[in-house]
Amino acid sequence: MARRHSKKKTATPAPAPIEKKMRQHKQQQQQQQQQPATAAEKKSESQTTTWSRIKHFSNDVIAPFFLVFFTPAIQILAHLGNPAAPFQWDRLLGNSFSWTAVAVFFLWSLFFLLIPSRTFVGPPSPMGYKPEYADNGMVYYTATLFTYLGLHVIYPDLSLDIYDNMAYILGSLNIFALTLCTVLLFMGRNRPQTSEVLPRSPMLFEFYRGMELHPRLLGVDVKQWTNCRVGMMIWQIFIVAFLIAGGRQGISPGHVTNVLLQTIYIAKFFWWETGYFNTLDITLDRAGYYICWGCLVWVPAFYTYSSYYLVANRSHFSAQGAFVIGLLGLLGVVVNYWVDYEKQLFRETDGKCRLWGKPAKFLPTVDKKTKKPSTKLILSGFWGVARHLNYTFELMAALMWCFPGYGHGIWPFLYFFFLIVLLVHRCYRDEDKCMDKYGPAWVEYCKRVPYRMIPYVF
Ligand code: NDP
Repeated sequence: MARRHSKKKTATPAPAPIEKKMRQHKQQQQQQQQQPATAAEKKSESQTTTWSRIKHFSNDVIAPFFLVFFTPAIQILAHLGNPAAPFQWDRLLGNSFSWTAVAVFFLWSLFFLLIPSRTFVGPPSPMGYKPEYADNGMVYYTATLFTYLGLHVIYPDLSLDIYDNMAYILGSLNIFALTLCTVLLFMGRNRPQTSEVLPRSPMLFEFYRGMELHPRLLGVDVKQWTNCRVGMMIWQIFIVAFLIAGGRQGISPGHVTNVLLQTIYIAKFFWWETGYFNTLDITLDRAGYYICWGCLVWVPAFYTYSSYYLVANRSHFSAQGAFVIGLLGLLGVVVNYWVDYEKQLFRETDGKCRLWGKPAKFLPTVDKKTKKPSTKLILSGFWGVARHLNYTFELMAALMWCFPGYGHGIWPFLYFFFLIVLLVHRCYRDEDKCMDKYGPAWVEYCKRVPYRMIPYVF
């Protein structure tokens, strides 16, 4: 891998292929301007302009806002969920329990990425770099979950201690994550691991967005470690800990359903971990505050919040009510996975598969750079009904696992409302990326499948 100093890069003229690419892009734009635009193109053009305005707003306003708002918000949430614990400022720095727990868990998760296992090669980056991942997600998940449950034999109060020290654990995670993001910023600015040329932005925005797509540290892919092995697994451990901590006052069917649904969702994630390497988190998001702090701190604090809240505020649901919610939530998880699976199957078979009992229909596309046939766009199955139905069912599952907190105000539903914003924003980010990648084929796909998440509504 070529290592270059990005400072030098900005001072020297852009390398020839970039100049060529920019010239080609300009020519394409001029050609497009000369041709009369169709109604669909005009519509998509105006959507793109709106989106680019949102992007500028996001760079200039949202990034700094997130940094100053969301970082302390986790402590406020932790306090609101467990008001019996006195608020002390030293929680921002962690305590010996939190630092020990975090260090042991980080080393454990690192260990599973370093032991010999199958290697999965992810989709190549736009620079042609092929990221490599350890393909042992399910082994890691089951080993960690059973070890955690087994630890209760020698340390019966472990879950209770996690609950009581939640704010301190978040303090430790926060310090660690901000340090890691600073290291990633430094690496990306001064010692990038690929020859990618990234235009300079304000440093705060670079810290927020991240610099590199697939940086490696200590021999592992940073995003596999932060997103999959730490974020998703802490989510699982915390909700089990909160269920055990809440169970001191007797079993609550609502809380059990809440944790069971999330457990199915997380187990499915690890079972499908290699599929995750094709998602936007990996292929589009750079390793920085947004994704790495998000997975190291925001996921443990916020994604687990409905379960955390139910410890001090017991669910009012009867066993029957909890069962119905469980079934609806299960439907959400299954269909969400089904939508993702249709795309995976379609890609693995290069379109030679059946969806909903019929041969899959698709739109051919052309790679803008090589002018050769590229990835096909599915027109059948769920992908022919709306362009992001996986998001819709993801929201349904989330609503159902938040529902046992009904009657306790908005707090148990925070994750659901956050997810609406996240996934709607993601629709636009994804479509921006697809428009850039597929051009006219994407316009045609949007014409044939006009709705994003809910047919006839959005
Ligand atoms: P998708 O799995 O929908 O992937 C979008 C990509 O799929 C596009 O960029 C494009 O990529 C490809 N694509 C889009 N339309 C088509 C089509 N018609 N035919 C073939 N390929 C198509 O999105 P995400 O990566 O965002 O989400 C993956 C999963 O993760 C979902 O289940 C989602 O709900 C979940 N998720 C959960 C979140 C959470 O916080 N709980 C957050 C975000 C996602 P390409 O360039 O390969 O063509």
